[in-house]
Amino acid sequence: MRHREKKTCPVRTCRGCGTKKPQQELLRLSLQDGQLVVDIDRSLPGRGLYCCDDEQCRKRLEKNKKVLKRAFRLKV
Ligand SMILES: [Zn+2]
Repeated sequence: MRHREKKTCPVRTCRGCGTKKPQQELLRLSLQDGQLVVDIDRSLPGRGLYCCDDEQCRKRLEKNKKVLKRAFRLKV
C-alpha cells in the first residue's frame, strides 16, 4: 500500500461490465488505427475508455460495438 492521500482517487466505470472502480485499478483502452489497444502508461492520444484488468471483461467490451462507437465518437 502506498502513502495515503487526502484527495480521492478518480473513479471510472468499466465499459465492459459497468462496475465502478478507482481509475488506477482499470485499464485504459485507446483506439489506434481502428484497433483497440491497452494504453499501458496512459500516454496515447485521443479518447480512451476504461475496462477491468480482466481478459473476459475486455473481450466483452471489444464485442460491444455500440459502446465503442459512443466512447470514441465513431461515425456509423
Ligand atoms: Zn469490467
